[in-house]
Amino acid sequence: MNFDTPHHFILTSSSIISILLIIYALRNHHANGSRSFAWLMTCALVWSFGYTFEILVESFEAKKFWMRFSQLGVYGSAYCYFIFALQYCGYSKWFQGKYLVPISLPLILTPILIWTNDYHFLLHTTVSLEQAGSLSFIQYERTILSLLFIVYAYFLICISFFILYRAYKHSIHPFNRQYAILLIGLLIPVISMLLDLLGFNPFAPFAPTSIVLIFSGLFIAWGLFRYRLFYIWPIARDQLIEKMKSGVIVTDISGTLIDQNPSAKEIITQDFRNFGQDSLTIGQNWHEQLDEYEQWKKSYSSLREVQIEVTPDSKIYYEVSVSPLKNYKGQFIGHLTTLMDITSRKWTEKRLFIQATTDYLTRVHNRRHFVDLSKRAFSKSLEEQTSFSLMIIDIDFFKSINDTYGHNVGDQVLHQFATICSDLLGHDKIFGRIGGEEFAVTLPKTSLDQAYETAKTIQQTFERTELTATIKLTVSIGLSTKKGNDTFDKLLLEADQLLYEAKEERNTIKMPTTFNL
Ligand code: GH3
Ligand code: MG
Ligand code: MG
Repeated sequence: MNFDTPHHFILTSSSIISILLIIYALRNHHANGSRSFAWLMTCALVWSFGYTFEILVESFEAKKFWMRFSQLGVYGSAYCYFIFALQYCGYSKWFQGKYLVPISLPLILTPILIWTNDYHFLLHTTVSLEQAGSLSFIQYERTILSLLFIVYAYFLICISFFILYRAYKHSIHPFNRQYAILLIGLLIPVISMLLDLLGFNPFAPFAPTSIVLIFSGLFIAWGLFRYRLFYIWPIARDQLIEKMKSGVIVTDISGTLIDQNPSAKEIITQDFRNFGQDSLTIGQNWHEQLDEYEQWKKSYSSLREVQIEVTPDSKIYYEVSVSPLKNYKGQFIGHLTTLMDITSRKWTEKRLFIQATTDYLTRVHNRRHFVDLSKRAFSKSLEEQTSFSLMIIDIDFFKSINDTYGHNVGDQVLHQFATICSDLLGHDKIFGRIGGEEFAVTLPKTSLDQAYETAKTIQQTFERTELTATIKLTVSIGLSTKKGNDTFDKLLLEADQLLYEAKEERNTIKMPTTFNL
């Protein structure tokens, strides 16, 4: 054996790099695509290893053996490259069902045909020894079948390129770097093979690809260590995009739909029925379909991330976030739209809000919410310089209702009382329960006289209304109204004091003037 030429050094280095890459890929075996990458590097190793020994050994039979050995690597590389591209880009499902046989059949057939060639000559016909300087190589004639295998191998490589390139185009910076590195790393041996076929080979008499693999291997190795390819991939694509519950839609700068995840399809077909059937077909203009959602449509003209709430019907809520996408040069290239179902959160929020602001027994505003709403209305009346009145209503002798009919009936009476008052007052007034049998009404844009009229209506309504268990009741009311630099708290205090005065007579309305009607 002869180890003294630089070619031997290069071939041996190529083998060592392949082995290191196999070890690296196997140590990261849990990451998607790493197993097929290890297989790909094994084929590269078989190729360069077999080729090295084909040159090193002297006997014709031994050379033939190593030539066949390296051929396994040549064909195997193309198949493994294809499988690697599929796995890395998330198309593992192609390995199941109807695609499995056509993909794996040539994989099984090729080695069998290579090793049994002496019996059928289906791949190579004449096999002879050719001398080039001090080195000798095996020369053979290819059959049509062998050419078909080569064409098939190139076909798989073309599809792999397409898959990787598509993934590169559709992924966002910096994740697209991984695809770029893999594309370039795997393109290097293919270009060299094509150049060799066209008769250009700077390494003659060696087959160039086995030497070129060293550059490719080094480039991928750099990519592996620099960008941790196997680690970034599963997080970036599979976990985040494909399996996430939120819908993800990618559009380019003109609004053309580039890609979407399965959740986006499901959300649009189930919850956004007003969109057309083919609204999520790649190539459609997405912006044009948003005419019914003006705010959503507008968010595509913003240069920053925009978040809006969208309700495709009154019971469904989505949080839509539209973020501009930029390429590595910082140029604006499109948008990433995410749709997150927030319906249950919204309903919980609503339920909690109602619980926090509503009186559990009478279903009217509780004291805190009544005061909040009233203070807001009071500030508005100060700004607009409009009148503002307030009344506090207390049921007379309520304790005796409880004592006579029981606490449950007392509860029913309170509920009925609140319902009747709410109906009488309408929507422009703020009505709340501020104590046990004490209620308050805020009357914006209402003068004291008008408030008195309302108080009188309430008083008279209860004088003639029979409540549950034929109970009749009367009310005492204290009134106040805004003047000068009053605060809402001052009005509340004043109304309370007047109510206290009214209690001396009962079934009475007291207001802050000299006259009482
Ligand atoms: P006054 O004419 O002086 O207002 O007499 P009153 O009995 O209405 O007032 P008082 O303040 O002496 O008693 C209020 C009563 O209201 C006592 C309490 O048991 C009752 N009460 C307070 N909250 C509730 C409630 O949620 N349900 C029932 N059934 N009764 C309540
Ligand atoms: Mg009372
Ligand atoms: Mg009271």
